[in-house]
Amino acid sequence: MVTQSAASTSHPSELAQPINKTAHEFDKTALDALLARRFFFAPAFEIYGGVAGLYDYGPTGSALQANVLDAWRKHYIIEEDMLELDTTIMTLSEVLKTSGHVDKFADWMVKDVQTGEIFRADHLVEAVIEARLKGDKEARGVKDEPVVEEDDKKKKKKKNVKSVAIKLDDEVVAEYESLLAQIDNYTGPELGELVRKHNIRNPATGNELSEPVEFNLMFESNIGPTGQIKGYLRPETAQGHFVNFARLLEFNNGKVPFASAQIGRSFRNEIAPRQGLLRVREFTMAEIEHYVDPLDKRHARFNEVKDVVLTLLPKDIQSEGKTDLTQMTVGDAVAQKIVDNETLGYFLGRTQLFLQKIGIDPKRMRCRQHMANEMAHYAADCWDFEIQSSYGWIECVGCADRSAYDLTVHSVRTKQPLRVQQKLDQPRKVEKLDVQFDAKKFGMTFKKDATMIKDTLLGLEKDKLQCIKDELVNGKSSVKCADGKSYDITSDLVKIEPITVTEHMREFTPNVIEPSFGIGRILYSLLEHSYWAREQDKARGVLSLPSVVAPIKCLIVTISQDAELRAKIHEISRKMRRIGIASRVDDSSASIGKKYARNDELGTPFGCTVDFATIQKGTITLRERDSTNQLIGQVDDVIAVVDQLVKGSIDWKGASEKLEPYSGVQDVEE
Ligand code: AMP
Repeated sequence: MVTQSAASTSHPSELAQPINKTAHEFDKTALDALLARRFFFAPAFEIYGGVAGLYDYGPTGSALQANVLDAWRKHYIIEEDMLELDTTIMTLSEVLKTSGHVDKFADWMVKDVQTGEIFRADHLVEAVIEARLKGDKEARGVKDEPVVEEDDKKKKKKKNVKSVAIKLDDEVVAEYESLLAQIDNYTGPELGELVRKHNIRNPATGNELSEPVEFNLMFESNIGPTGQIKGYLRPETAQGHFVNFARLLEFNNGKVPFASAQIGRSFRNEIAPRQGLLRVREFTMAEIEHYVDPLDKRHARFNEVKDVVLTLLPKDIQSEGKTDLTQMTVGDAVAQKIVDNETLGYFLGRTQLFLQKIGIDPKRMRCRQHMANEMAHYAADCWDFEIQSSYGWIECVGCADRSAYDLTVHSVRTKQPLRVQQKLDQPRKVEKLDVQFDAKKFGMTFKKDATMIKDTLLGLEKDKLQCIKDELVNGKSSVKCADGKSYDITSDLVKIEPITVTEHMREFTPNVIEPSFGIGRILYSLLEHSYWAREQDKARGVLSLPSVVAPIKCLIVTISQDAELRAKIHEISRKMRRIGIASRVDDSSASIGKKYARNDELGTPFGCTVDFATIQKGTITLRERDSTNQLIGQVDDVIAVVDQLVKGSIDWKGASEKLEPYSGVQDVEE
C-alpha cells in the first residue's frame, strides 16, 4: 500500500493560512499579458495591423461577457419583469435628427495648427494639466503614485505629455486641481479659453492648437442601393425603445410604470480611442428605459434598496473644485433630495447591488452626479456609476432622468401620440391654456416650419405655455423646436387663453429614467479588480472572478495519465455539462500544480481531481481557487455540491458542511 498525494499545491498546513491578495502591488503589465495570452480580447484585424478602438473577444472574454449579460438579464429583465427588445442597429437618420444626435452628438477636437494632428480637446487639457501637477510634485520632492504601464499607444501619449519637474505657485496648483475636478463641465469655447489661458500646446511638437471644433461621433451610412435613405449606426440603443413606445405601452395594457430593456451593440467614432476596452468605437450596451408618471416618481420596490449604501460625489462638491466622497443610504439620499426621486434612487441602489454581485469592488465604485453643463438640457438629474481602475475613475453606468424629452420630440415629429391615457375615478374640472392660431398669418410667417412650431406649442406643458403667454402680453415670445432652433412668435399669430374643461381621462407623456451600462468598461474593470498574484510566487496570477461570471466553472483533472482515470474525467465532465455546469477537462501531461495555476488565470473557481481513490472508493476531491482549500466526497455528491456552488445557493463554507475536508493524502493502492 502506498500513499498518494493528489494535489501537492495545497497541503493542509497551507490551508490554515489566510489568503493574502495584496502581497504584491497590482501589476498591469502582468494582467495585460495574461489577458492576451489567455485570449480574453485582442485588437481586431491584428494581423493586418489593427484599427484603434476595435477589439475581438476570444473564448474566455466572450464567455465572461455572456455571463455578465446573463447576470444582468436575471437581475433586471427577469427579476423586475422588464419588456425586452432587440431593435435594429442601422438607424434612420430622421430618428437621430429628431433625438438631437445629428446636431449634438459630438466631442470637441483641436488640431495642431502646423502638423494637423488631432486631439480630443478635454482629454488633451486634462493630460497636460495632470503632467504639470506631476512635475510640480517632483519638484517639491513628493513621491507620486507608481506609474502604471499601459498599452503602447497610451504609453506614447503619456510620453508626449511628459512631466517636467517645475514647481508651480500654490495658487496655480489649486487652480489646476479645481480645473481637473470640473473637466467634464467645460463647453467647447471654454476649453478653447483654457488652451489659450494656460498656454496648452501639442506636447509632441510644441505647436499651437486651433480653436476647438465639434466632431460628430456617429458613423454615417446609406440604406439601399440608391443612397437616398440616409442612416447611421446607432450610438446608443435608447432610440430603439422610444420609437416602439406605443407598442410597448399597449403590451403593458396601457399602464405605467414599466420598463423596456435591451442589450446590443452601439457605435461611436471616437476621436482618440484609448485605454483598451474603456474607449472603443464599437461596444455592447445594456440599457433600461423606465417610464413613469411625471407626477409620481415613487417606486413600488424602493424599500428593498433604501438601506443600500452608496458612495456619492454630488455636483455642488465638484463645482467647488473638490472630489470629497460621502457615504449615504439610498433612502437618505432621496429623502434629502440629493438624488432627485425614488425611481432614480431605486436604480442607483439596484446597480450598486448588480456591480457587487458580479465582482466589482464596492470600495472602488462611486456615484458622481453630473454638473449643470455636463447634463443634457432636458435631463432632471443624472448620476454616473464610476469604477476606479489603473486608468482612474471611469464612467461605466449612466443613470439619467431624461424627463419627457425623447417621447415628446418623437411624438411631435411623427404626430403619433406617445402618451399615456389614464381613466380618472371622478371626472374633474381642469384649468387649461388653450392655444389659438391665426392659421393664414401663421402659415405665411413660418412657411415649411409652421406645422412643427404649431405642434411644439400644442405639446407644451402648462407652465411653459404660461411663460409664453406672459411674454406675449408684451407682444413677443419664442419657442424652441426639435430642430434645436428658437422661433419668435407674436401676439397677432398666437393667442393663449385660460379655459376650464371637464376631464374624464388624464393624459400625459411619461418621464423616462434610463440606466445605461457600458459592458466592456464593466468587464475590464472587473478583470482589474479580480486580479492578484499568489504571495509565494508573483508570477502566479489569479483572477478571483465570482463563479456567477467565471467563463468556466469547474476544471477536471487527473493525477496521472492512466487510461482509466482519463476516461473518468471525461465522464465527470459530461455529467457536469449535462446539468449546465461549464466544466473543462485538462488531460495534458502537465503537473497538477501547473494545471491549477493555468485555470487560476482563467478565473475558474473550482477544480475536481480524479485519482486512484476514484476507481477504488468512488471519491473525487474539490478545490476552491482562492484559498486552494480542498474537500473530498463521492463523485455524485461532489457534482451536486459544485452545482449548488455555481448557482450560488451555497458558499464554500456550506460546501465544507456537505463534504469532508481533504488532507492531501489518499490511502489507496496504486
Ligand atoms: P453615454 O450614453 O455616453 O452615457 O454612455 C453610456 C455608457 O456607455 C457609459 O456609461 C459607458 O459605460 C459606455 N460607453 C460610452 N462610450 C463608450 C466608448 N467609447 N467605449 C466603451 N464604452 C463606452
